[in-house]
Amino acid sequence: MDPFLRELTELYARVDASYEGWSCSGTTECCRFGITGRQPYVTAIEVSLLRHALAGAGGSGSILAPRRRALPITPNRELERICPLLSRDGRCSVYAARPLGCRTYYCARARPGPGPARDSLHEHVRELQDLAARHQLGGELARPLTRVLEGA
Ligand code: SF4
Repeated sequence: MDPFLRELTELYARVDASYEGWSCSGTTECCRFGITGRQPYVTAIEVSLLRHALAGAGGSGSILAPRRRALPITPNRELERICPLLSRDGRCSVYAARPLGCRTYYCARARPGPGPARDSLHEHVRELQDLAARHQLGGELARPLTRVLEGA
């Protein structure tokens, strides 16, 4: 793996560790941007890792989330503006590579754990921006996930 992408996975591991013990009901509501009115903003290096994960997803199911209690997906995905990376069975198809914004339990129903998540978030965002800038000139400028996936 590209050393920058490896650095990003190490950063994600530290982010996840800072949320140790946090949980949510796994409704996948946060992946339905039409409901929440918000969506993750992603840097270029996060997009590179997503592409890497999608390319590797063909034969291996290892990047799929182990379980999600998904809301039913309506026939009209556009109406809910569902993340294109949410599979029809309610799993994030790039779970291990999901962006930082998908790891932060921002939902009001999230149950906090002992991890010092909120205190370290700003530091993690700064680390991510620094890494994205080193990876690619201008790469620290985050864009909405759907706009990136739609190639806009
Ligand atoms: S990348 Fe995965 S976790 Fe993030 S919004 Fe999309 S489906 Fe949900």
